[in-house]
Amino acid sequence: MKEIYPAFYKDFKCIANRCEDSCCKDWDIDVDSETEKFYNTVQGALGDKIRSLTVTDEYGERVFRSTDGRCPFWNQDMLCDIYIGIGEEHLSRTCANFPRVKVDYVDFRENILSFACPEAARLMLKADNAYADFGGDDELSVSEDSEDFMSFLLKARSRTAKILSDKTQPFAYRLADCLEFNAQVQSLLDGAEPQPLDLDGTEYEGLDFIFEMHDCFEIMSEKWRKALAEVRKKQNELKIRADFDRDFEKFAQYYVYRYYLEAVNSGDVLYSIKRIVCAFVVTGLMDALFAKQDYPLPRMRILQRYSKEVEHSYDNTEMLNAEFDKDERFSAENLIVILESLVQRP
Ligand code: SF4
Repeated sequence: MKEIYPAFYKDFKCIANRCEDSCCKDWDIDVDSETEKFYNTVQGALGDKIRSLTVTDEYGERVFRSTDGRCPFWNQDMLCDIYIGIGEEHLSRTCANFPRVKVDYVDFRENILSFACPEAARLMLKADNAYADFGGDDELSVSEDSEDFMSFLLKARSRTAKILSDKTQPFAYRLADCLEFNAQVQSLLDGAEPQPLDLDGTEYEGLDFIFEMHDCFEIMSEKWRKALAEVRKKQNELKIRADFDRDFEKFAQYYVYRYYLEAVNSGDVLYSIKRIVCAFVVTGLMDALFAKQDYPLPRMRILQRYSKEVEHSYDNTEMLNAEFDKDERFSAENLIVILESLVQRP
């Protein structure tokens, strides 16, 4: 299988106890069956503690439950007792791999880093043109053949990534172009004739529904909940800063490479783009608020925390996609009008 890596991948190194938002914080930790089998043989107090703290979660997975926002094996020196006690080779797959993510697509595998890791986020924000583009520039045409379907999606993803990196326009306009382009792609996938979107009948009716939805999400950090509430309250006074575009472009490229090809199963290319729009609105306005407050949380942390709170939650992602399906306010037309209004704010 062909393995594909972004340019920054090899530069990643975990910074362990110097990490400002460790992966040992807030999350339950998956314990895969092979690792659990080994843990069942560990003697002494550590073995007993591991066994007593391995439980089955609501999805039927075996996990170490986060207690007071911490993995129970993350000690006061912010180091891992399992790593210290029985060695790195006996960490569960989740712990050993994070933030490395492998996504398999039959003929090839894409290896990326998760934005939820602060050190990986720093690398991604520094990198330019880091993702391999193998979509080509040919015309898009859909075929029933699954190999051709993947090559169609790769071309569409490549065009999407190019639109997002067109620095001649504010990022909100690039995102609006992306919605328009992918609405056409979606028409092709649905077997319909692609038509330009008709925006004439769409009035700007506010963007509070995006915050309302984020309020309903499962939220791990109280600080994040408070920040969201404050941005929601002040949303109409805030304007996304021009220099936010540079950093958000990297975040958006990450999303595109991580999620666009999910359409191979869902048949929907707009899910991933609409998720980027939601992330842009929430993090862009939070960045604008924090800029006025001298950044209580740096911009990298706003994007990283969004990834940790929203992107990495299966339930939150499901809720987003379900709302995209049933709430007309998430139509491509309405989101374009919202994006344009953000640029036009005085
Ligand atoms: S979040 Fe990243 S840098 Fe921080 S402890 Fe986990 S892997 Fe290491």
